[in-house]
Order: sequence, then C-alpha cells, then structure tokens
Amino acid sequence: MLQVIDTEQSYHKVWSLRWLTDETFSLKMPARGFRFRAGQHITLAIPGDTQSREYSIYSGENDQYLEVLVKVVKEGYFSRRLSRLKPGDPLEVDGPFGEFVIDPAKADHCPHLLIASGTGIAPYRSMVRTYPNLNYRIIHGVRYGNEAYDKEAYHPDRYTLCTSGDETGAVHGRLTKHLKKLDFEPNTQFYLCGNSNMIFDALDILKEKGFSREQIHCEVYF
Ligand SMILES: Cc1cc2nc3c(=O)[nH]c(=O)nc-3n(C[C@H](O)[C@H](O)[C@H](O)COP(=O)(O)OP(=O)(O)OC[C@H]3O[C@@H](n4cnc5c(N)ncnc54)[C@H](O)[C@@H]3O)c2cc1C
Repeated sequence: MLQVIDTEQSYHKVWSLRWLTDETFSLKMPARGFRFRAGQHITLAIPGDTQSREYSIYSGENDQYLEVLVKVVKEGYFSRRLSRLKPGDPLEVDGPFGEFVIDPAKADHCPHLLIASGTGIAPYRSMVRTYPNLNYRIIHGVRYGNEAYDKEAYHPDRYTLCTSGDETGAVHGRLTKHLKKLDFEPNTQFYLCGNSNMIFDALDILKEKGFSREQIHCEVYF
C-alpha cells in the first residue's frame, strides 16, 4: 500500500545559538508554521552543502520557534559546521520524521519512563513542553553533571541524573545500573533515546523485567 508521508522542506534563518556546555548548544530558528509531533526529528542541511543530518526537535509543538540540541562531535563533519552558524544564516529543514511520539490518549494516565543518554534528552523536552500533564519520569545518563541540559525544564522529582564520570549526579554510574534496581507499573510506556549500546542494554533489562516490546519505544542516534 502506498504510504503518504506528510513532510515538507522549508528554509529557515538561524535565530540564535545558545551554548549549554563547551561542546553542546541549542540552535533556534523561527517555526514559520512548521508542524510536528513532540518526539519527532528533522533533517538539517546547510544550503550549498550536500550533507544533512537528523536532529530531534527540542522545542514544544506550540512554540513559535523550532529548536534543536546539538553536541559537537570532535571528528564529526556536520555538527561542527552547525556550530559555526551565525544569526541570519539560512538552514534547510526537512521533515518531520519518525514515530517516537506520545500517544495523547495515554499521556495523562499511563506512567511514561523517558530514558536518555546525552543529547537523547532532546525529544523529552519537546514532550514535556507539549503535554503539561504528562505523567513522566526521566532517567538521564551523561558523563559529567554539566551535561544535564536545561534540567530546570523538568520537575526535580521527575528527573534523575546519572553521571558516570563524576559524582555530581543523583546517581553515580551508568543509567542502566540504576534501571536494573527499579520497579515499574505494568502499564508503563518506556522511551529509550540516544546511543545504541545504551538502548540495547536497556531493552534487555526491560525485557527481563517482563515488559513487552509494544510498550518500549526506541530512537537510535548512532
Ligand atoms: C533520528 C536521529 C536523531 C538525532 N538527534 C540528534 C540530536 O538531537 N542531537 C545530536 O547532537 N545528535 C543527534 N543525532 C545525531 C546526528 O544526526 C549526527 O550524527 C551528529 O550530529 C554527528 O554528525 P557529524 O556529521 O558531526 O558526525 P559524523 O561525521 O557523521 O560522525 C558520526 C559519529 O559521531 C558520533 N555521534 C553522533 N551523534 C552523536 C551525539 N549526539 N553524541 C555523541 N557522539 C555522537 C558517533 O560516534 C558517530 O559514529 C540524531 C541521529 C538520528 C539518527
């Protein structure tokens, strides 16, 4: 059956770059009516360059701007190019893409466990901004405490930072070590976003705890 995908290509101008750490920044551009569902991603391209990359949308569905959270990969090509953009520079946006989204019927009453490594927190900020009554908890795994990007966006009781490289997080060690110790209600919806090693490990832990694949949603960055 032919599937119609409702995506678009549009040109935006960079509004601002906001640095959150030495190597991670958020990039904002006017939304200009761009429609998406919280959790989806876009592809970005710089006009005149043949390369493009995917980025989860960091802003909420109702924000007047479109925002992404980007970690500059040292040996990477595109993230370094993005980091050098200035206000007013043009950007090509494609999308939205993906099914890593909240079921609105479950948002308020089912518990949602949102698990992220690094910039994998990006789609959750969009979800939390979009669904003010979302029943959620976030487990965020990073190396150092300063990578708790915009943590004030989340209720402190709902956000657990796991730091593997220092002891500044609520939990010291990998998020998967923490996940093993927790119990969840049977109707919990699980979201896993970030690097594939974390996602495969977390999937195994959740399967061992008896949760079905249908209630586990994954977005792999690399
Ligand atoms: C669906 C999807 C959504 C994504 N959303 C985001 C996002 O919101 N924010 C974001 O920063 N990246 C995100 N990425 C990754 C992004 O698309 C690029 O791969 C990343 O910016 C590196 O591009 P590059 O050209 O600089 O590196 P490349 O030259 O393409 O080198 C790629 C290598 O960089 C490493 N890498 C890629 N992404 C990351 C990362 N986030 N943190 C640490 N190391 C990484 C991996 O080792 C990978 O093999 C997403 C990827 C996918 C598939």
